[in-house]
Order: sequence, then C-alpha cells, then structure tokens
Amino acid sequence: MNTSTWDEFAELALKRIALSGAEYGDIRIQDSITEHLEGEDRRIASIRDLHDRGFGVRVLYHGAWGFAASSVLSLEEVPRVADLAIEIAKGSASVAIEKVRLAEEPVHRDCVVTPCRIDPFRVPLEKKADLLLQTMDTLQRQSGIARSSASLWARRDRKLLVSSEGTHLEFDLLAGQGECMATALHEGRFASRSFSTPHLRKGYELIEEADFLREASRVAEQAVEKVRAPAVDAGPYDLVLDPEHLSLTIHESCGHPSELDRAIGYEANYAGTSFLTTDKRGNFRYGSPAVSLIADNTEPETLAATGYDDDGVLCQQWDIVRNGIFVGYCTNREVAPKIGESRSRGSNRADGWANIPIVRIANIGLEAGEGTRDQLIDDVKRGIYIEGHGSYSIDQRRYNFQFGGDAFWLIENGRRTHMLRDVIYHGITPEFWNSCDGVADRISRRRYGFITCGKGQPGQSGWMTHAASPARFRRVHVIRGEGSA
Ligand SMILES: [Zn+2]
Repeated sequence: MNTSTWDEFAELALKRIALSGAEYGDIRIQDSITEHLEGEDRRIASIRDLHDRGFGVRVLYHGAWGFAASSVLSLEEVPRVADLAIEIAKGSASVAIEKVRLAEEPVHRDCVVTPCRIDPFRVPLEKKADLLLQTMDTLQRQSGIARSSASLWARRDRKLLVSSEGTHLEFDLLAGQGECMATALHEGRFASRSFSTPHLRKGYELIEEADFLREASRVAEQAVEKVRAPAVDAGPYDLVLDPEHLSLTIHESCGHPSELDRAIGYEANYAGTSFLTTDKRGNFRYGSPAVSLIADNTEPETLAATGYDDDGVLCQQWDIVRNGIFVGYCTNREVAPKIGESRSRGSNRADGWANIPIVRIANIGLEAGEGTRDQLIDDVKRGIYIEGHGSYSIDQRRYNFQFGGDAFWLIENGRRTHMLRDVIYHGITPEFWNSCDGVADRISRRRYGFITCGKGQPGQSGWMTHAASPARFRRVHVIRGEGSA
C-alpha cells in the first residue's frame, strides 16, 4: 500500500470538506483482493480473482449526509468527488426534517493488521487446486455419492480511514474459508451433507488445520445415511442444536432484531423492522435465564473484530441479552444518541468503498454454560440433534420463524439413535429462547462467520461471526418439510 499517496488524497478531500463549513467528513480508501476456487464433481470448475479499488467521501453538513465515491484514485478525481459529496449533503440539509447528531468518539490513530502465519495469496494455486481435487475424490469414493463440490475463499482488504476530527486508521485485514459438500442419491431422492471451516480472520493455516480429507469421508458417509433416513414425524421435540446451526438461529432471531437502525424504522422499506422495540430495552424477557447473548467485536480472528468500525469507533464488547433480559443494541454514531447513549457501540460497517457504512450485526455469541453436549443429550427422552445450516424463513420483525438444518439425528432416552430427514422446526423468537434450559461449556464453543448478510439500499453484504456451544431447547414444534434436504 502506497500510504503516502493515499494520505495525500485524504488531505485533499478533507481540505475541501473543511472549506465547505461541514461539521464532519471522512474519506475511506480501499483496495481489496478476493480469490475464489471452486471445484465440482472432481474437477476445478472456476478460479476467480477480483481486484477492487476506490474511495468514498462522506460529509455531514448542517445535520444531513452526503456521500460520493469513485474507482479512480487521482489528484483530479478526489476533490471532484469530495465536492459532489458536499453538494449532496447541502441538498439533503435543505430538505431534512431531523438533524443527524453524531455521538462523540475519541480521536484514534492506529494501524490494524490481521495476524497471519501463512499468507493465503502466497500459497500456489496448484496446491489449493490439489487439495480440492483430493477432497472431491474422497467424497466420491463413498458408494452412493453422486456429486461432490469443494471450494476455497480468501480476501485481503487494505483500507485507510481519515476523518475531519483527526482520526487516522490504516487496515490490512485478511479473511478465509473453505468447504466441501457431498450429494447422495437413493430411490430418486437426493440429500446433501457439507463441511465448512468457519470464515475467520486467519491466514491459510485455517485451511491446513481443518483436515479436509478426514471431514470429507465423514460427510460423505453421513450424506448416504441421510438420504436413506426416515422422514421425521411431526410433533413437539426437545432440540439439541450444534454451534454451526445456532450461528444462523442467533443471526436471524437475535442479530437482526438487535440492530437499532431497524428497530427505529430506518430499514422498514427493505430489510424490515424489529420486534425488539426501544421500550423493551432493559425489561423484556427475550429468553430463559440460561440465555446470555454477548456482542464482542474484540475477539481475535472474528469477522467484525476489525479494531475500529467505519465510523472510526473502537471495537467493543457489550451485552445484547443478559440472563434472558434484552438489554442492548448494535449501534453507530448516528443512532446511538436516539436512545440516550453517549457513545456508539462501534458496529457501523460498509461493504467496500462504494457504499456508506450502516449499522451491522456485531459478532453476537451465546455465552457458554456448563457440562458437555452429551450431557445435554443425556437428559432428552424424545428429541432431535441438529447440525449445520438448512433452509430458513423469518418474518420482517424477526418474530415468527422456521429453520431446517444440514443433518438431524433422533434422540431416544438420552441416546442419538439414527439420522432423520426433512426436519423443520418453527416458533416465535422469545418463546423459543425461553425454552432453552441448557448451554454446554466453553470447551465445546465454536465460531461461524457470515459474509453475505444482506441489508441496505443499494444492497450491501455484511460480515460477522456468531459463536456458541451446543444448547438444548424444550418442546419445540417440528414439522416435516418434504424434500427439504
Ligand atoms: Zn443477515
């Protein structure tokens, strides 16, 4: 990164902003590279390299925002785009009904670099392709497997954020992930089973530590068992949910409703609103006393732990739900004052240089409890153990939902007996979390990341990690979702 040139560009933009009389402004310059290898049915299907570079200027003038961005980084373009952002902010100010007031934040000058043992962009493509081919061979060695796929993904973001308040932040962030999937066929029916490493801010060591070949033979065997498994009988069951499965449940039923911008209607037109309205903060029983959901944007290796957000606010840890009571939101500098908070939670992130930052779900995780997963299962007479992600649906207030999964096992009298298929459970968010009567200990805690969380107009993809230990939920309604493999 040629930071001296980027600093010159930043200075140019900030000079224009200072001259305009705007109360705040910032510039984000970003250079991102993404590499995505995909294999299908024992061959490499695609290798994609994406290089994306540009900058965005944000201006707050008399309480109204203006934003403009460009992919051309030059001494002529930067002042032109800064002037455009100022002009838009002035136009917005002339019609704005409510003025934006930013929560205070100390000035930060820092450089954030993802620690990495093996740079994924220096690992030869041949080595990565070979891993995918060997993984697919292992998947298809299992008789009954009709199709296989495997992929590797890596991304590097170099970014500079400079604000009119004096904040100056440099970033060199990495993220990676790998996965594979087997599809089994039986009597005209098919079922898939997959393995994914979490998306984490780590080097290629994430992939090397994952042992793809061992996981491939496990999921291939399970895909064959799954396609031959009996369909579930509808009815109430106790559920024991694994961390990967819970990451999606947490994301949809706790993450989205805890975004304050949604709760106050900013996203009503598109992404939806929230049943966690501001009057519920501090008094609403969201879950049982076993349920504490903690936002932590400081945990190393997690996706939202970027040191600072795109408001230049220091990443933090705080409670969303404490012992079952809803207590906190994800906020940015704009919306935090609307609920009387003097400081943003630092959860404002943009999808690249071309978009404005918006409130994003933090790394929200379920706090660990006591005992092991098997101890949770021991105390279940008739239940289902669910792993991984499947289809899901949730209303725009995040209140009524249904979730599938990737693999299901029947639990009878404290023992996992055999696999099931076509399991879908449904419920109402607070009823579901109130039925949680046990969370396993920290040793069984796992983390899973999301990079395609959709929100905003124009649409943006958000990144965050959800951690959990296995947890047990009593008497949840299960239905048979035909063909919901
Ligand atoms: Zn989402």
